[in-house]
Amino acid sequence: MVRTKLIILAWLLLLVPTLLLGVGAWRLLQNESDRLALHEQQSAAARLATITGNLELAIAEVKDGLMQRLALFSAGDLPLLLGNWRQENPLVRNVFVWQADTGLTYPDPEMPASDEERIFIRRYLPLFSGELDWKQPASDLPSPPATSASASADSVLSERKELRQLASRAPSPGLIASLEKISTQPEESGWRSWYADNQLHLLGWYQPTDSKRRYGVEIEMMALLSRLLGSLSPPYGSNESLALLNGSNHIFHQSGPFEITAASPPTASRAIESLPHWRLNIYSNPSTNTVQSGFLLIGGLLTGSFIIAILLGGSLLLWQAVRNQRDAQQKTSFVSNVSHELKTPLTTIRMYAELLGEGKIDSAQKQRAYLQTIIRESQRLTRLVNNILDFSRLEQGRKAFNCHEVDLVELVRDILSQQAPRLNDAGLRLKKQLGAEALRINVDRDAIEQILLNLLDNAIKYAANSGELTLCLQREQDHLQLILSDRGPGIPAEQQQKIFGKFYRLDSSLTSTQPGAGLGLSIARQLARGLGGELHCFAADSGGSSFCLTLPLQKESS
Ligand code: ADP
Repeated sequence: MVRTKLIILAWLLLLVPTLLLGVGAWRLLQNESDRLALHEQQSAAARLATITGNLELAIAEVKDGLMQRLALFSAGDLPLLLGNWRQENPLVRNVFVWQADTGLTYPDPEMPASDEERIFIRRYLPLFSGELDWKQPASDLPSPPATSASASADSVLSERKELRQLASRAPSPGLIASLEKISTQPEESGWRSWYADNQLHLLGWYQPTDSKRRYGVEIEMMALLSRLLGSLSPPYGSNESLALLNGSNHIFHQSGPFEITAASPPTASRAIESLPHWRLNIYSNPSTNTVQSGFLLIGGLLTGSFIIAILLGGSLLLWQAVRNQRDAQQKTSFVSNVSHELKTPLTTIRMYAELLGEGKIDSAQKQRAYLQTIIRESQRLTRLVNNILDFSRLEQGRKAFNCHEVDLVELVRDILSQQAPRLNDAGLRLKKQLGAEALRINVDRDAIEQILLNLLDNAIKYAANSGELTLCLQREQDHLQLILSDRGPGIPAEQQQKIFGKFYRLDSSLTSTQPGAGLGLSIARQLARGLGGELHCFAADSGGSSFCLTLPLQKESS
C-alpha cells in the first residue's frame, strides 16, 4: 500500500511538472507564431504601401501632365484646342468649357455632337449647373488606413507626394514662358472624382485667374488603368499576389503567382487616395503560407518528443527502481527461506547424531532408525544445496549439461525406488506406468533427477495423504513424455503458468504451512528447456495437478 502510494507520488512528481513544462512551451510557441504572423502582416503592409505609393505617383504624374497641358491652352481657341486634344490623346475621354455666368459652353448642351457628349453633360449636370462645388468635398476622400503598421508606409507616401508636387512644378524647357506666367498669376485648378452608374470618373479642371472660363478634361479611366496595371505586380520573388478592388469591392485586376477569389482574406489592404473607394490588397499564398504553421509543427513536434522523452525516461527509471526494490525483497525472502530450509534438516541431523553419540540408545532397531533419519535428512540437504547451486548457475547462464545416452525407464525406476520410503511416509501410494521397453535417450542424468525430485518434493509437500500418485512415462512420435499426477488440491488454471516464475508461491493456507522459496518449479523448467524439452502444468483428471516433462528424442540444444 505504502509502495503504491510512493509510486503514485513519484508519477505525479514527474507528470505534473512535465505537463506544466509542455503547456508553457506550447504557449510560448503560439506567442512566437503569432508574433511571426504579425511581423509578416506588417511587412506585407509596408510592401503594399510602397506599391500603392508608386501607383499614386503614377496617377499623379498623369494628372499633372494633363493639367500642365490644360494650362497651355489658356491663351488659345479653347474648343478647337480641346477638341483636337481629345482626338489625339487616348487618355482624354471628354473635354469641356464652362463659364460661371453662362454655364457650359462646350460641348453645346443644346446640341451635343455625339451620344458620348450628351451622356457626359448629363453625368456632370450637378456640377455644370452650379449645384455642386467644383472642389472635391473632404468627405469623399478616403480615410487613412487605421493600421499602425502603415506608419512607415505613410512616410513613403508623403515623400512621393512631395516628389509629385515637385514634378508638377518643374516645367519642360519649351513651356517655361507660359509656366512663368502661370506661376506669377496663380491659377485655380483641381481634380474631381465622380461616381456615376457605379463607375469612377476623374474630371480635371483649370481656370486661369484672368479669366472667368473654367475648362477641363475627363480622363479615359480604362486607358489610364490599363497603362498603370501593366506595372502593378507583387515584389519580385515574393509568394504574394496583388488585387485591385473597385468601388463595388470587385476584383478589377489581379497579379501574382496564385489565383485570388473574392473570398480570399487579404494579408493587408490599402485605400488608393487618387481613386476614391478603390483598394489595393495583398494576399499570402494559403497553400505555401507555412512559416507559422511549419514553425508550430516543428516546435510542437520538438516539444512533444521532449515531453515523451522525459516521461519515458522517468517511467523507465521508476520501473527500474520498482524492479530493484522487488528484487531486493525477493533476495531477502530467498535468503531467509533457504536458511530456514537448511536449518530444519541440520537440526534433525544434529539432534539424532548427538543422541547416538551419547551412547544412551541401546536398542539396535532404534539406532538404525536414527541413522536412517540422518541419511534422509542429509539427502534432503543435498537436494536443497543442488537446487541452490543449479539456480545460481542457471541465473548466470553457466549451467553446463553433461549428456550421455541413458535408459530413461531405468533411471526413473532408480529414482523412484530411492524416494519410495519418503512417499510412503507422506501417505502417497505410487502408481508407475513405465512400460516394459527401454527408452534410450541422450540426457543429463543429474538434471533429470533434479527435475523429478523437485516434482516429487512438491507432491509430498502439497498433495500428502491424498492417496495416489501416478507417474506415466510414454513415447510419442518424436519425444518422450513423463507425467506426474497427484490428487492434491490442484492449481487454479490462471496460476498454472505463474508457478514456474522465480520465487512464485501460491497464496494458499497449504503453501504457507510448507517450507519453500518458490524456486523448485522455476529450476525444473529451466533444466527441462536446457535439455531441449519443456515442463508445464495442467489440471489432472483425478482432481489434483499434473506436471508433464517432454524431452526430445533427438536433442537439439543443450
Ligand atoms: P516451493 O515449493 O518451494 O514453494 P515451487 O516452485 O516448487 O516452490 O512451487 C511453486 C508453488 O506451486 C508452490 O509454492 C505451490 O504453491 C505450488 N505447487 C507446486 N506443486 C504443487 C502441487 N503438486 N500441488 C499444488 N500446488 C503445487
